[in-house]
Parts: sequence; structure tokens; C-alpha cells
Amino acid sequence: MSEGPIFQRVALIGLGLIAGSMSLAMREGGLAARVVGYARSAETRDTAREIGLVDEVVDSAAEAVAGADLVVLAVPVGAMGAVAAEIAPHLAPGAILTDVGSVKQSVIDAVGPHVPEGVHFIPGHPLAGTEHSGPRSGFATLFRNRWWLLTPLPDSDPEAVEKLSALVRAMGANVDRMEAPHHDLVLAVTSHVPHLIAYTMVGVADHLRRVTESEVVRYSAAGFRDFTRIAASDPTMWRDVFLHNKDATLDILGRFAEELFVLQRAIRMGDGEHLHKYFTGTRAIRRGIIEAGQDTAAPDFGRAAAKAVR
Ligand code: NAP
Repeated sequence: MSEGPIFQRVALIGLGLIAGSMSLAMREGGLAARVVGYARSAETRDTAREIGLVDEVVDSAAEAVAGADLVVLAVPVGAMGAVAAEIAPHLAPGAILTDVGSVKQSVIDAVGPHVPEGVHFIPGHPLAGTEHSGPRSGFATLFRNRWWLLTPLPDSDPEAVEKLSALVRAMGANVDRMEAPHHDLVLAVTSHVPHLIAYTMVGVADHLRRVTESEVVRYSAAGFRDFTRIAASDPTMWRDVFLHNKDATLDILGRFAEELFVLQRAIRMGDGEHLHKYFTGTRAIRRGIIEAGQDTAAPDFGRAAAKAVR
């Protein structure tokens, strides 16, 4: 895929789904001469060693980043600031520091002040994931044909941005750049609020389950099952996403509640015309996503296809 390694030493801080998938993709493509990893718990480090997730697992974040020309923060959004403070004195001059957090402005606010002079901080977010987490959940094709958004700062070095973009593209993703506040609003619409709705719907069904003695689970239809898959996502990660993308989430949630009331009223008033027109519009959006190659038309929401490339 590539003509020799793009980076000499990549340090992954956090060894979960995203870091693990990056390591597997980089090693498969020969994109890094050496991938070194660190996670805070001995259990995760042991697992990573056992399955050979990275070239070397080390026992401190400082040791991982020493001499690295790329450092990736792959921990929950709420932990980014503390991790940045811990590694900052050990970062090599000229290194690129990036993150994969699902929220961008709060990560910039938390990490930015710790970044030493001469280190290039380029925040990023791969729009790829599953409901699984931990060191065993990664796979090399996770980023293939997905978007990876970079939110460079006004003074980011264009050469460093291009080098990081080259790595992202070599892992199979498409790169786009946007400003952090815009990223956070877009993601509130496309990911964060949909997750919150799924969590809520499964919570509602859970209350009903007590009344109907598990009929909700036994007879669960495709719509509900898809909600449960999303609602099985990592609780720490998603707690942090909502706490750190508060304004955009509340903005979109307000709009969602307004739309819901309009649909609720249409149902109450028997306004089939309104419902039909609304659903025709939303169907066109789904078709657009499939045409853009971001999902398949299979009735299983592309799960079989995703397994096939794993
Ligand atoms: P994950 O599989 O749960 O792995 C998280 C890693 O962070 C683990 O190695 C964990 O270490 C470490 N960690 C957790 N809390 C920490 C803390 N307080 N201090 C230091 N390290 C901590 O998570 P992931 O899915 O890879 O997510 C990592 C980042 O990617 C998050 O910022 C998330 O928002 C972003 N992201 C996730 C997805 C997705 O769908 N999952 C998609 C795009 C971006 P231990 O194992 O030792 O506890």
C-alpha cells in the first residue's frame, strides 16, 4: 500500500478499539517502522502483549512517547488533558501529536496548553467504530473507506498536517479538514444525539420489560435490535462525549424534541399526509448515505459486509 514507513516510531497512548485498529492497519501496510503502545491498566497491557497488538508494550506513557515522531492519544475525551500533561515533558521536538477523540474543541482546550514548543498538535477524529471496546476489539480494516476529520489549529504546520493525512489515507480512510466547533456540531447531528436517542429508547424498553416480562427482548424487531447495538457502546466513552460536547448536543436535542412534537401532533390529528411527506424526505437521506458508500443497502445495516472485511 505504501512505499516504506511514513513514521519511524508511533506511540499509541490507550490500547482500545481505535488504537488497536490503527496499529493493525499500520503494521499491515508497513506504515510505521515501530509501533509502541501503553495503556494505564496492567491487564490491558498484558492482553496487548499476549495478542501482539503492537511491536512493543511499555509500562509508562513517558517511555512510549520518548523518541516518537507520532504520538496518538486514544483515550476517552475526558482523560485527554491529564494524559497530555503526563507526556508533555517527554515529547520529542518536531513530533506530531494527534488524538482520536470524538469531540474536538474540548480536547483542544484540554491538550493545547500542555503542548511544548516545537511539537505539532493536530487534533483528529476517525468516523469509524463499533460498539466493542478494549484491546481485543480492533481490526485492520476499521478505517477503510471511512472519513477521518482533522481539525488543525490556525498555526498548524502544513507539512505536518500533510504527513498525518498521508498516514490516514494509507490506512484506507478519506481525510477532510474542518474547524473544531463545526466538527462538534456536525457530529452532534450524525452521531452523538442518535446515540443518546438509542440509549433512551433501550432505557424505555427496559422499563417496559419489567411490565411485560421480557416480551420486549423476546419479540424484539429489527428497529429495536439496532438501537440495542448502538446502546451497547462503551459507557465511559459516551459519558465523556456528552459532557464534553454539551452545547451542540443540547442544541440538536432541542430541535429533535420540536420535531418529535410535530410528528406526535400529526399522529394525534390523523395527519397521514404530513407523516408520509416527512418519511419520504428521510428515506431520500438514507439513499444518499448508501450512494456515498457510507453503508450498504443490506437489511442488516451492513453487518455481514463489515464482518466479511474483518
Ligand atoms: P476503548 O476501546 O474503550 O479504549 C480506551 C483506552 O483508553 C483503553 O486503553 C483504556 O485503558 C484507556 N483509558 C480509559 N480511561 C482512561 C483514563 N482515565 N486515563 C488514561 N487512559 C484511559 O476506547 P476506543 O473506542 O478506542 O476510544 C478511544 C477514543 O477514540 C475516545 O476518545 C473515543 O471518543 C474515540 N473514538 C471512538 C470511536 C468508537 O466508536 N469506539 C470512534 C471514533 C473515535 P485501560 O484499558 O487500561 O482501561
